[in-house]
Amino acid sequence: MRRHRNVKIVATLGPASSTYDQIRALFEAGADVFRLNMSHGSHPEIAERHAIIRKIEADLGTPVCILADLQGPKLRVGVFANDDGEDLAVGASFRLDLKDAPGDASRVQLPHKEIFDALEPGAHLLVNDGKIKLRVIECGADFADCEVIVGGVISNRKGVNVPDVVLPLAALSDKDRKDLEFVCDLGVDWLALSFVQRPADVHEARELAKGRAAILSKIEKPAAVKAFDDILAVSDGIMVARGDLGVELPVQNVPPIQKRLVRACREAAKPVIVATQMLESMIESPMPTRAEVSDVATAIYEGTDAIMLSAESAAGSFPIEAVRTMDNVAAEVEADPTYTQIIEASRKAKRATVADGIVAASREIAETTDVAAICCFSQSGTTALLVSRERPRVPIIALTSVEATARRLSLSWGCNCVVVGAVDRFKSAVLAAVNAAKSEGLATQDDMVVVTAGVPFNTPGTTNILRVAPCDERKIVPADPE
Ligand code: PGA
Ligand code: MN
Repeated sequence: MRRHRNVKIVATLGPASSTYDQIRALFEAGADVFRLNMSHGSHPEIAERHAIIRKIEADLGTPVCILADLQGPKLRVGVFANDDGEDLAVGASFRLDLKDAPGDASRVQLPHKEIFDALEPGAHLLVNDGKIKLRVIECGADFADCEVIVGGVISNRKGVNVPDVVLPLAALSDKDRKDLEFVCDLGVDWLALSFVQRPADVHEARELAKGRAAILSKIEKPAAVKAFDDILAVSDGIMVARGDLGVELPVQNVPPIQKRLVRACREAAKPVIVATQMLESMIESPMPTRAEVSDVATAIYEGTDAIMLSAESAAGSFPIEAVRTMDNVAAEVEADPTYTQIIEASRKAKRATVADGIVAASREIAETTDVAAICCFSQSGTTALLVSRERPRVPIIALTSVEATARRLSLSWGCNCVVVGAVDRFKSAVLAAVNAAKSEGLATQDDMVVVTAGVPFNTPGTTNILRVAPCDERKIVPADPE
């Protein structure tokens, strides 16, 4: 099932998208990557959705990418004596402490000792998606007395954000470690880490994942924005997690951060997802707002690899319509000559390695002559990522004998991934490439394609050959060197 667009769509699964028919319909509508959100859903539910995705993959004969999103050190208050919680008035005092007695109008538990160690007078605490704002007046090892700056209802287990301090929290909670092991056992392609603060958080996850999944860092803390270059350097991909980012920072800071992160990821040849509230109103309505359509379009014009649906596809009433909306917006944007201009003007020349030169040459050939596709052999996926970074005008076909590579690459801009048998001769590589281009419906017998590969074959990091090949195999074989 080939898409007529380059940007990818990530759809979060949940109660509204948990059966074979629902998930398959999402895929057919355009979802390229499925997100399993470990903050919701039991292990049996996650395992069931995972098995359904792999079944769809087998039924359709095309690689499908799965991203498991770990909850991370999400802070929450304890419970209140009154199930409805308490309404905090502006100017009132309110205490957070470690006592597990039910909360009331004067205090509630915040069961994270490390937070009290890190808090200082003047720091802000945001509760319930930033709706309530508290300022620390005085604090100690087991309490913080706060003034209510913005009031509202605080109730059981509401989330707490502490934007002003780098928290001495482990990147992965006990739950995260169990979830990580569980999903790596199932077999997922990407692990998303929530509330990453520093590069060490990424190292920790990578050690536990042991190569079983690529690591994607969610940028949703001011500390992560500050340390972004270092975090990007040790991550395989990035998510602009605008939900929590817009709680921890003033919302107007989010768009420029999004632009900077998307650009930096392209430069680093690592996939980036723009996430959260993209089509929020479609949770309840079959039609998006004009502003949402514009937001989706903007992310695509910026050159993001992927756009994401959260509750829209997981719990909304119109999951399929939401995917279709993204698909339609993407098709329009990518057909706009302004899009091509923007994408090409923001390309940075990279000529550090032989592979950089080969992929740049293949993109230039696609611009100056009439080739139908760029077919690149990529065992580890690195060469395909370099081709994707070039954002060529013709489709990219990423050929690999490693199924995990094909699945992982499905998150990246423009990558049509095809699993092929191992090749050991240049001739058989060219034949495999043109056959894939034709069977994917991206080239016909009369077309030419660019093929890149590396000799010796099946050794990662060796891209050193470029061939412009006819798709007519009768023309390849006699002319081709061994
Ligand atoms: P979440 O992350 O949906 O897991 O909170 C995304 C975000 O914060 O934007
Ligand atoms: Mn988040």
